[in-house]
Amino acid sequence: MDAPFPSPLPGIALGPQEVGVASLAPPPPGSAPPPPGAPCCAPGSSAFPPLPPPPATASAPGAPPRALKGLRDVHIPAALLDDFLRAASAATARNVEFCGILAGRLIGGGEESNSSSSSSNSHSRTFSICTLIIPKQEGTSDTVAALAEEEIFEAQDRRGLFPLGWVHTHPSQSCFLSSVDVHTQSGYQTMLDEAVAVVCAPRDVGRRCGIFRLSTPGGLGLVQRCEKRGFHPHSATATGQPLYELCGHVYLNPRVGHEVLDLR
Ligand SMILES: [Zn+2]
Ligand SMILES: [Zn+2]
Repeated sequence: MDAPFPSPLPGIALGPQEVGVASLAPPPPGSAPPPPGAPCCAPGSSAFPPLPPPPATASAPGAPPRALKGLRDVHIPAALLDDFLRAASAATARNVEFCGILAGRLIGGGEESNSSSSSSNSHSRTFSICTLIIPKQEGTSDTVAALAEEEIFEAQDRRGLFPLGWVHTHPSQSCFLSSVDVHTQSGYQTMLDEAVAVVCAPRDVGRRCGIFRLSTPGGLGLVQRCEKRGFHPHSATATGQPLYELCGHVYLNPRVGHEVLDLR
């Protein structure tokens, strides 16, 4: 409230350090799969550096969590997040959270960028987010809820899309998932392991935008079993994993278009 809301366009500054890392298991020695850092975007533009190995806290040796091995890539059009911040700017100026649904489809490898496709067989299917749905909604300074969910489902059905995640602002807080947010994400991630939670925090100078998921199996299982609502503390996960983590399977793609569907 004490500083003017910065222009959303230069403000987003998503970069490898915000987007990368943490959810992919380190390749087992000896039988290494294709490197997870293989670029999927335009060469030289947003090719992310190789993923550093995650902290070695969880899981028994030799038994990496099953879900971490099989996550398919998710592409987000870079300009979609600019459009989201533009749509959110009025609410952000009032210190009210704002949300959107990230809808998309599963596409074949190389469909969107056949000129630079690499290692075609290993990642033949990719989730591509193509539509930002802005629902009717109700927000406060630290919560936001989509209303009229049937309109969201109908809009997705008409286009043959399904929900790949959600995006919301923290107008005055830092970039993280609150205890309410992790329950929202649990709903998306229970339906689809690759689903993402994007948080845009214009006032967080350290990380203005983060793309998160609940850790699997530890974080997701804990939240699925939690019956509390509202803001509440969560205990440590049974696996020793953090409750949630930055996504390592998400790429900002500057070369694909998108649609904004405003249902308000
Ligand atoms: Zn939040
Ligand atoms: Zn809970």
